[in-house]
Amino acid sequence: MNLILFGPPAAGKGTQAKRLVAERGYIQLSTGDMLRAARASGSELGQRVAQIMDSGALVSDEIVNALIDEKLTQHKGAPGFIFDGYPRTIAQAEALDALLAKHGAQIDLVIRLEVDEPALIARVAKRFAEEGRADDNPESFKVRLKAYNDQTAPLVAFYKAQGKLKGVDGMASMDAVAASIAAVIEGR
Ligand code: AMP
Repeated sequence: MNLILFGPPAAGKGTQAKRLVAERGYIQLSTGDMLRAARASGSELGQRVAQIMDSGALVSDEIVNALIDEKLTQHKGAPGFIFDGYPRTIAQAEALDALLAKHGAQIDLVIRLEVDEPALIARVAKRFAEEGRADDNPESFKVRLKAYNDQTAPLVAFYKAQGKLKGVDGMASMDAVAASIAAVIEGR
């Protein structure tokens, strides 16, 4: 079972992915987490992406596709993968299909967390005040939302055309969102 948790930044994808890991043993593949780990380690890749990430823009497709390729190989035989924050462009979605096909697998389900932008902006302002993540500052978050609307939102049509897209109300409580996601997975 390979699923994509889809939605704009700060929609709650990471939180829900972690619950699925705890409850179902799936492997979470978050390119944002991988890039932050690269930065924390001070690697050459981390240094290369730091400025782009802080600005709120997307790093190149080549970089994130390579990270995912490596993880799919590393976790061969896992019961399922949850893609969180990836793919974010049509080119990434096509690369993911090709990478999974190499392992005889495919995307089974795309769950879209539906949220409204004003609420998201408020959520991120709160997170910035609490955690101080550089790319949560209001200027960067505007860039992240624009990148989502321009480059990532077209994936809705891409996965709808494949009959894989399901929506859940992302504005509900954390537990209610988790219950909706479980219902979608089980009702597949
Ligand atoms: P996230 O935590 O998923 O919001 O990712 C934080 C930042 O990492 C993004 O604003 C991008 O700069 C970069 N990033 C993460 N995932 C991707 C991706 N799939 N494609 C391009 N850039 C990404």
